[in-house]
Amino acid sequence: MNKATEFRLEARPRVPEVLERLEELANNLFYSWDHGVRNLFARIDLPLWQKVEHNPKLFLRRVAQERLDEAAEDRAFLSEYRRILGSYDAYLESESGPEVDEILSRDTELVAYFCAEFGFHESFPIYSGGLGILAGDHCKAASDLGLPFVAVGLLYQQGYFIQTIDPQGQQVARYQSHFSDELPISAVELNGEPLKVAVPFPDRNVVAQVWKAQVGHIDLYLLDTHTHENNAEDRELTLRLYGGDESTRISQEMLLGIGGTRVLDALGLAPTVWHINEGHAAFQILERCRQLMAGGLDFEAALEAVAAATLFTTHTPVAAGHDIFSRDLLLYALGAYLDESGLDFEKVFALGSKNGDESFNMTSLGLRGSRFHNGVSRIHGSVASDMEGDVWPQIPAEENPIGYITNGVHVPTFLAPEWASLFDIQAPTWRSELRDRDFWEFVERIPDYHYWSVHKALKQQMGEFVVNQLQRQHVRNGTGHSVTDRMTRQLISFDKDTLVIGFARRFATYKRATLIFSDLARLERILTDRDHPVVLVFAGKAHPKDKPGQHLIKVIHDLSMQASLMGHVILLEDYDQAMARHLLSGVDVWLNTPEYPKEASGTSGEKAALNGALNLSVLDGWWGEGYDGENGWAITPRNLDLDAEFRNEEEARDLLDLLEFEIVPLYYNRASQGYSKGWVKRSKASMKTITPRFNSQRMVMDYVERYYSHASMQGKKMLEDDAAIARELGVWKQRVREAWPGVSLNVQGCVESRCAFDETIELRVEANLNGLAAGDVRVECLVTPQCVGSYQRSGDNRVLLKEESDQDGKTVFSAQIAPPYPGLQTLRLRMYPYHDALTHPLEMGALLWI
Ligand SMILES: *Cc1c(COP(=O)(O)O)cnc(C)c1O
Repeated sequence: MNKATEFRLEARPRVPEVLERLEELANNLFYSWDHGVRNLFARIDLPLWQKVEHNPKLFLRRVAQERLDEAAEDRAFLSEYRRILGSYDAYLESESGPEVDEILSRDTELVAYFCAEFGFHESFPIYSGGLGILAGDHCKAASDLGLPFVAVGLLYQQGYFIQTIDPQGQQVARYQSHFSDELPISAVELNGEPLKVAVPFPDRNVVAQVWKAQVGHIDLYLLDTHTHENNAEDRELTLRLYGGDESTRISQEMLLGIGGTRVLDALGLAPTVWHINEGHAAFQILERCRQLMAGGLDFEAALEAVAAATLFTTHTPVAAGHDIFSRDLLLYALGAYLDESGLDFEKVFALGSKNGDESFNMTSLGLRGSRFHNGVSRIHGSVASDMEGDVWPQIPAEENPIGYITNGVHVPTFLAPEWASLFDIQAPTWRSELRDRDFWEFVERIPDYHYWSVHKALKQQMGEFVVNQLQRQHVRNGTGHSVTDRMTRQLISFDKDTLVIGFARRFATYKRATLIFSDLARLERILTDRDHPVVLVFAGKAHPKDKPGQHLIKVIHDLSMQASLMGHVILLEDYDQAMARHLLSGVDVWLNTPEYPKEASGTSGEKAALNGALNLSVLDGWWGEGYDGENGWAITPRNLDLDAEFRNEEEARDLLDLLEFEIVPLYYNRASQGYSKGWVKRSKASMKTITPRFNSQRMVMDYVERYYSHASMQGKKMLEDDAAIARELGVWKQRVREAWPGVSLNVQGCVESRCAFDETIELRVEANLNGLAAGDVRVECLVTPQCVGSYQRSGDNRVLLKEESDQDGKTVFSAQIAPPYPGLQTLRLRMYPYHDALTHPLEMGALLWI
């Protein structure tokens, strides 16, 4: 039979005039954190709102005309609409607070933030997980704080994949194209023409068109190669996030770093601070050098100027998170660009070398092209200092310039509206008190029954969400009704108020999703106790190339189908931000069992805590700082020198011990009021201690105070007077680099080993400076009290030695020192190159000890 061709036609409704600003609301990601805006759409047509996956723009295209007309006549709706518009307008009109303005004035400053992914909301799927959500939260907080800020990323037509889990427990990855007119973006025009930028690629230019997403106050520019100037293959460069091969990856990173910088330039934006969020965006360093070189600087001076205004944030100690390209690939991919730019390949290659390897590491490039660097928690900061120490080869890891700012989450996005309403009554100014720990003591004043009723309502919503989701996926998989009924039994019998534990994150092996199953018989006993049952809910995607990660999904799937565990282990497919909001606000306990120290920060536990869930986690990442003994439960990681399997077993035993002897008994210790007083006490302790410390406003203010303000000053200083200081520093560093291998340092005479507490001793050292001047170096003595034992920076007392004389090519430095500590102390002498214009005294990575 001959089959008819189908032509698709979409008849779009006309939005009635009174409601016309719905279009504006749909086009500003303000909706991603303002529940009121989203609720307006849901009120017009709830089933459609769910069907379009909470996408306001798509909603406005598909909604029936009569629904809109009804809403336009509905008094109650209109008054809510006006109220929401009022708060939207007030938000957009609000200026930056004085706390920001004093440090980074809107008139003169601009922070440019580059990242490969941004996660604002499930309707805008250009993120894969933690990094993207963090970048989204960073932008949201920057908007809340009124920071002068612009963000740059890529527009992926298919985003990350959609996950289904088949009847055998195999992950199936599916891709769906999203068209620009269903995303909260608009085409950027310049002088009446669509803005496009070109990046030189081998034998061709690749052109990117530019889109803009509005995130409250701030703009996010996104590059997209799906445009007619490109050949078919290049059009697909921005098809998928973390898709394709090495060559796709390096191409995407050239577009982001080089193309992204060109976009800002084309728009006439001149950032004073550049924040490179993870190595993917580090090629911007090259493009910014090229621009300065076109203005007459040499490469060394240009790099000084660029680096001084730049902050680089590294996000993971796991190898797969760091892009490493072969020398050949780099040479091929960047060849045409370097030819056009006048950048020397060997010099560029040296910026990305790590431990002398013959490959190019984007993290190393990021670190060498920036003077400010950070990890994302206290533990990760020190892990990163160790891992990346080769950038400063002679500097002890404890002293290299990598610091840390612990990640935080955007409270308005992740706090359930039910809690927000309760806070509005209890402490109406809470939204502007997100960084005041004392303020959050108000949580203690919420009556326990009221507190618990909010949690219980959210838990019920979560339960319904999970049941729906499970039914959907199992109907598709052909699972029988009797089985799905048994799976959802625990969650449906809401009166029993079963303890629910959530675990949702990327299935990467280091996250050890199956750790809790290490002693299956024991776990089964705990979960299926008749009076005190427990339900575990799992969700998460594994990268399509990560077979071991996918195996974990299968293991959990199989366990969830096993008769003895059915209903007590639940696996949901397609974890995204909407599911995260449901799970995080509804579960009782949030579980995280990473292999220490690989969880750089983790943020989902912070989101859970805002909503009153209790964390049960390995002391790694943010929890290493967040846990205080009262606000959740901790698993202490075992010594890394021990065998991995043994460590897993030990940590798994801690986990089950906590569950069996503390968590379950506390949860079910219900008196007549129907909930556990002890549990509420802990939950309040969690909410009030974690919310004001681990939110993104605190995080962004830390970035402003500790990095952005300094980077802005350093960057400007370098460029004053036709970049006089950058030029001087560039020349000076080359001179020092050449001389340093021939420099030596010796004690002159001997160092006294005894003196009275009130005496001084004389230290004299002589240096062969190999042509450097005494003013090019610093000679110092570190005095450490012996009781400290191992080397500790904070315990050091430093004494500078001054130049005394210069003879026979030797320079003598000396100082009189009074012992700063009583009793035994250690003296260590060292020398390093020094220049006033350095950003960090040890940034050259050169240091000589006696
Ligand atoms: C918060 C969040 C993450 C990151 O959570 P981790 O704790 O870092 O694993 C990932 N995906 C979604 C959808 C999130 O909301």
